[in-house]
Amino acid sequence: MEKLFNTPAKFEKICYDLRGPILEKAEQLESNDESIIKLNIGNTTPFGYYPSKNILNSIQTHLSKSSGYGDSQGLIEARLSISNYVRKKYNHVIDKKNIFIGNGVSELILMSMQAFLEKGDEILVPSPDYPLWTASISLAGGHAVHYTCDYSTNWFPDLDSIKSRISKKTKGIVLINPNNPTGAVYSKSLLQEIVKICKKHNIIIFSDEIYENILFDNYVHHHVASFSDEVPCITFSGLSKSHHICGFRVGWMMITDRSLKLKKINHALNMLASMRLCPNIPMQFCIQPALEDILSKPDYYRSINHQLAKKRDLSWDLLNKIPGISCIKPNGALYLFPRIDKKFYNIKDDEKLVLDFLIEKKVLIVHGKGFHWHNNDHFRFIFLPSESIIQEAIERFRCFLKDYSQ
Ligand code: PLP
Repeated sequence: MEKLFNTPAKFEKICYDLRGPILEKAEQLESNDESIIKLNIGNTTPFGYYPSKNILNSIQTHLSKSSGYGDSQGLIEARLSISNYVRKKYNHVIDKKNIFIGNGVSELILMSMQAFLEKGDEILVPSPDYPLWTASISLAGGHAVHYTCDYSTNWFPDLDSIKSRISKKTKGIVLINPNNPTGAVYSKSLLQEIVKICKKHNIIIFSDEIYENILFDNYVHHHVASFSDEVPCITFSGLSKSHHICGFRVGWMMITDRSLKLKKINHALNMLASMRLCPNIPMQFCIQPALEDILSKPDYYRSINHQLAKKRDLSWDLLNKIPGISCIKPNGALYLFPRIDKKFYNIKDDEKLVLDFLIEKKVLIVHGKGFHWHNNDHFRFIFLPSESIIQEAIERFRCFLKDYSQ
């Protein structure tokens, strides 16, 4: 009998709906010449945001000499630029040997979980989350234990929820700040409280800061590694979102380990980095000009954030005007995570809701459960499109909900 190859069981419990069945349906509709407003991923370029000339020129200048393999942790010049940036911006000193460059933050999230986790280890992950974290923990043999972020406190992590989820198996906690999908930007005092909990329970922090430069209304980003004291902190950041180069795949991970608790794990990380040989070389030449731009042209980035804030305001306002929809105003990142009041709408399955919306009104959004949110009463909306498209998408949602019942 012919041998069949099944999907390994470890994939069965993994949820990655950002590019899952709803996207497949959208692509099927598009192949039938339907035009879809795609608001499922924070990909800036299709919405008219492009990389700067400095970035493109740097790649072009170095392209012809960058076809060989390079250092498996990333080019030394690029790691020095990251170290310089973090020192100037956050007064945080990090040695180049503690920086790993990756093909996007995504690769480094997967790698770090492979390096850190033993079978059965638990990692605290926010709910709602960016689903790659939960998926990477499961794939590495660990368990993601979700703590609640609280709608009533601007989506800040609930400290009691964090404390109540800690067990003997807890190894680390994931923070996403600024947050996807809620747009929350954490205060320094909140982060300090989390550091205290981690210190007490000997837990590592994994801080995903990919939106560190997308902030609104004078909100400030606090880089937790700069005040995590002896709590080890692995920080993740990159250029996909702030520099509109999602497709170039440039990210990095920095290990802050003042008490040398992670010494042995560095070996595993180095091994994994060597096994993937090296991150894409030409794209690492984006890092120096991109980070210099951030430091030397704050007004330019402020003006982009200002434009984005206008779109956020429009989306927030229009969504809140729909009966039964309420939404916290995000202070950073690219997303709104509105709530649907079930007293107004009879929703049993949020994935079916977004699928029905897609089929009926040709707009693609993502349901809250795709972000490991425990109730079927939220969805994520991206405010990157032009104002007219935002208006159109929200108007279609308003009309759709009016008659919707499952
Ligand atoms: N972390 C968060 C919170 C994200 O939202 C994303 C992408 O949307 C990533 C990581 C992955 O980013 P990258 O493009 O660097 O792989």
